[in-house]
Amino acid sequence: MDGQMQLKQWIETSRNIVFFGGAGVSTESGIPDFRSQDGLYNQQYKYPPETIISHSFYLKNPEEFYRFYKNKMLFPEARPNAAHFALAKLEQEGKLKAVITQNIDGLHQAAGSREVLELHGSVHRNYCTRCGKFYSMEDVIKADGIPRCDCGGIIKPDVVLYEEGLDMETLNKAVAYISDADMLIVGGTSLTVYPAAGLIDYYRGSRLALINKTVTPMDSRANLVISGKIGEILGSIVL
Ligand code: NAD
Repeated sequence: MDGQMQLKQWIETSRNIVFFGGAGVSTESGIPDFRSQDGLYNQQYKYPPETIISHSFYLKNPEEFYRFYKNKMLFPEARPNAAHFALAKLEQEGKLKAVITQNIDGLHQAAGSREVLELHGSVHRNYCTRCGKFYSMEDVIKADGIPRCDCGGIIKPDVVLYEEGLDMETLNKAVAYISDADMLIVGGTSLTVYPAAGLIDYYRGSRLALINKTVTPMDSRANLVISGKIGEILGSIVL
């Protein structure tokens, strides 16, 4: 049986599917990932992106942080693609229990997914670091330079920067979903960012399907590896 047929058959016969994904899920929506050839890490800046989007850099140089963040990490025009819609459909059918994502773009929710665990936060939630007031992504885009609250405090995105820890409640929920899953679909992630990548270790079943454009360090652990574009693949099987 070829890979896509196997994937289709597993999806049809599983009842507790969990999806775990990353930036590659949104490239077909026009949002560049980090590590592909045309990804953010292969473009040239004054500082490497890992440096700019770190906690210490944000504190030391918020102006430069926000210049990069607004130009390279916010995509207000992006719309969900077939991968997002396929996963939302599987949830509506009662087959898929949760989407666990490293993405911060909110596109799973925009496609209709309800149980979305955002390991690295979301660009759609922003809070004043002084008074805690909520601001939208549009408020951040509209602000000139460093976004500031009415109270004068700096507004910070609810996005996990390098050197910052993950939310334990979200992480624990992700572990619980993956431990209980009868099928785990992993896709659009280089599986190099920890602790997120380590979540796969909690899967105990024999239907681990990995869909990615390039080879990952976990390919040998998967029961099925499909190389290709996740939107095209999930779209053709599910939609
Ligand atoms: P990554 O950039 O390290 O890896 C992306 C992987 O997806 C690569 O292996 C690439 O080959 C693959 N890929 C790209 N397009 C694909 C497609 N259409 N179909 C299948 N595979 C595809 O991304 P990562 O593993 O998610 O880790 C990087 C970090 O980047 C995450 O922590 C995330 O928070 C952040 N990030 C998020 C966004 C977003 O929210 N959309 C965008 C860029 C980076």
